[in-house]
Amino acid sequence: MPSPALFLDRDGVINRRLPDAYVRHPDEFELLPDILPILVQARQHGMLLILITNQQGVGKGLMTHAELNVVHDHMQHLLQRHTGFALDAIYACTDLATTASERRKPAPGMLLEAIAEHDIDVTASWFLGDSLTDAQAGRAAGVRTILVGPFQASDADVVVPDLASVRIIAP
Ligand SMILES: [Mg+2]
Repeated sequence: MPSPALFLDRDGVINRRLPDAYVRHPDEFELLPDILPILVQARQHGMLLILITNQQGVGKGLMTHAELNVVHDHMQHLLQRHTGFALDAIYACTDLATTASERRKPAPGMLLEAIAEHDIDVTASWFLGDSLTDAQAGRAAGVRTILVGPFQASDADVVVPDLASVRIIAP
């Protein structure tokens, strides 16, 4: 039976976003505690947890794929320690914004890949993000969207001011 998924943006959702900089080292990865109950709740609803992140710092040559993987291993260990589980899958697009990439958000490529590679119930799934491009990618892939931040109500299916206000609607 297909599973619903909670697709998650990374910077500003799982970890504190660094203004005008990339998280290149585990020391720079600051977990946002308010994401933890969201992950636990989604897990209790039987949702797959799948990261969908743009990381063009690699494409710019500011960090390597290996460094990005080290940061993601660190993230998974932190989540495991705090919740008892880690994310089910990680999709990262390292293409430059200038390349018209089909994977880079706002394009839905990474979501479509994840949907193809896992048995996902698309209409019961959500994308949680903090940028308009997250909602655009989610909508293009046919999932419901939650945006955290100062957005218009029309920008996503659900708009909330902060992570603490996110309630996962049971699929
Ligand atoms: Mg973000």
